[in-house]
Amino acid sequence: MTRELVILGSTGSIGVQALEIVEANPSLFTVVALTAAGSNPELLIAQAKKFKVKVVGVAKNGDLIRQALPGVEVIDGPHASTEVAAISCDVVLNGITGSIGLAPTLAALDADNRVALANKESLVAGGDLVLARAKKDQLLPVDSEHSAIWQALIGEDRKEVSKLILTASGGPFRDRADLSGVTVQEALAHPTWVMGPVVTINSATLMNKGLEIIEAHYLFNTAYAQIEAVIHPQSVVHSMVEFVDGSTIAQGSPPNMKGPISLALSYPHRVAAATAPIDWTQSHTWNFAPIDSQRFPAVALAREVGAIGGGLPAVFNAANEVAVQAFVDGDIKFTEIVKTVSAVVDALRGSVSATLRDLADVSAVEEDARRTARELLKKVG
Ligand code: MG
Repeated sequence: MTRELVILGSTGSIGVQALEIVEANPSLFTVVALTAAGSNPELLIAQAKKFKVKVVGVAKNGDLIRQALPGVEVIDGPHASTEVAAISCDVVLNGITGSIGLAPTLAALDADNRVALANKESLVAGGDLVLARAKKDQLLPVDSEHSAIWQALIGEDRKEVSKLILTASGGPFRDRADLSGVTVQEALAHPTWVMGPVVTINSATLMNKGLEIIEAHYLFNTAYAQIEAVIHPQSVVHSMVEFVDGSTIAQGSPPNMKGPISLALSYPHRVAAATAPIDWTQSHTWNFAPIDSQRFPAVALAREVGAIGGGLPAVFNAANEVAVQAFVDGDIKFTEIVKTVSAVVDALRGSVSATLRDLADVSAVEEDARRTARELLKKVG
């Protein structure tokens, strides 16, 4: 029996790779529905035809897509992904970028669908809401680091875990002393991973690692004091778990998201040849080094924000989304991205809600953060 999939964010990096996995494994998976923002309608239409999907959700260009896909139910508007996420299926892959992925995650969980989560912002902005809904094995990580930790924890007694250690490539500026003159093009050129633009910029500031520390806290119910991050430029060891006896289990493969995507789609089974294994006929050198917190303050800031919790991680993420856009638009310098996030966190840490009860609470907190970020950026600009 094939697994029925719903893929959210199908035209993005994760969505495209997921569909390649489906194409290579037609006996394992069928695609029931796709959603996308709609900024690349040609690709979305081609995907819908190729995989013979029944439903397409799109935020914009709905009429264009409806015309091109007779016989397909097209749901359009800002809540399309949330509606489609609630269609009964085996697995919803959430490959949306940004905290707009939170509402679809909650809708999929409420509909009793399993969620393969590539949208880390669901947990950063709404971790408590997501965890309150997720049953055992209903929420599976797709982020490569979290997939590694998840794999290393299988069969282990959680009381015997002493640390989770996330690896970070260090991004393109790992060895660059002065980051003030970094251009958008330089920040978009990642040395080891091919990803979407926002994740790539977040990898360059190490904001991505900060978000992933918060993601790990929620996914594995682990205190921030027990979550560390280390630079590993080759991106082969995807993360590690250290145990109380001093033993460390690491998961490794050449950097390719098809490994973690396929495991989340077919868990508890592995998909044969999902990704190339490490070639042991060649020599390899793997380096590990501590993160330079002076040049990359995002990681310590994430840890601090995460430990305070409540609405502050949502503030942290929303401020970053605004600051990254401002950098991409050429309005601020690279080093001002994290400075802006830090300033927004400082401005709101005293007033932000200590508990988020529902999506409306998350939206209100994010709106505050975005407005504060824009006001600060106006002063900079
Ligand atoms: Mg990652």
